[in-house]
Amino acid sequence: MEQPLEQPQVTVVGSSNVDITALMDRLPAPGETVLADSYQLTPGGKGANQALAAALAGARTEFIGAVGQDPNAQIALEQLDAAGVQLGRVARVPENTGVAIIQVDAGAENCIAVVPGANASVDAAAVKAAGELHGILVLQGEIPASGIGAAIDAAAERVVLNLAPVIELERRYLLAANPLVANEHEAALILAQLDGADQPVDEPEEAIAAKLLAHGIASVVITLGANGCLVAEGGTVQQLPAVKVKAVDTTGAGDAFTGALAARLAAGDTLVQAAGFAGKFAALTVQGHGAQASYPRSVDNL
Ligand code: ADP
Repeated sequence: MEQPLEQPQVTVVGSSNVDITALMDRLPAPGETVLADSYQLTPGGKGANQALAAALAGARTEFIGAVGQDPNAQIALEQLDAAGVQLGRVARVPENTGVAIIQVDAGAENCIAVVPGANASVDAAAVKAAGELHGILVLQGEIPASGIGAAIDAAAERVVLNLAPVIELERRYLLAANPLVANEHEAALILAQLDGADQPVDEPEEAIAAKLLAHGIASVVITLGANGCLVAEGGTVQQLPAVKVKAVDTTGAGDAFTGALAARLAAGDTLVQAAGFAGKFAALTVQGHGAQASYPRSVDNL
């Protein structure tokens, strides 16, 4: 008989994709065909990226999502499997595994089309069918809003909400975030959603963070790329600087940050301590190419 798995400390409910990345001298114009030099199939999707980061940062982690029955399903999950992420509740659905079709030119400019595929099936019914959720819950904006809401309703512990991309969520679900993790653009869009405004406000990040707290969100982390992040809770906002490194590719840095943050919260860190660790973890990832491929396999020195 199989040993029952130990309960996860972090559960990520979210998207998993295969990124199809083609490298070419220049991007094609509409209607044009260009020859690309090479292409790669790599695992991605914000949910899967964050689950991998949480596991590599030391948390027992479960990923709940959906893949298809196509060959891409195995590629989408292989890094998670290798890192020991629990995958027993990933649904196999008739739709194809989600893909991101990415064209990159010689100047690193890109053009991306995302086909959600199986990720679109992670709705309220699917999340409810999955059953109990354990540990800290981590969510992003790449599954249907109803799935995010159902996961928050079932959360056992605090909810780390990285609403990227920003989609419409019921107010009570936005207010359940602790922390809300967003980059500066996303934070402004989420504030506009809470304010009921048509346009995001153009204000300093500190003011946006304070206003998000004033709406009733318990804590907020705004990531600022090479400028580090802001941590806001209990009426105070403080900036943590980034580690100074030579960045070669920032793809997936925000996901690495969020997953590592959740892992450290699960280990008992304060939010400021966890954000400090997440910043160091994310700084390692920007020094390598790709998303999941750039995540550090050892955090002993952090
Ligand atoms: P997103 O990709 O979601 O916009 P950011 O670019 O803000 O996210 O990056 C997330 C985190 O990754 C930052 O808060 C920072 O800790 C780290 N990071 C990103 N870019 C760099 C960089 N150039 N140097 C050091 N750390 C970085």
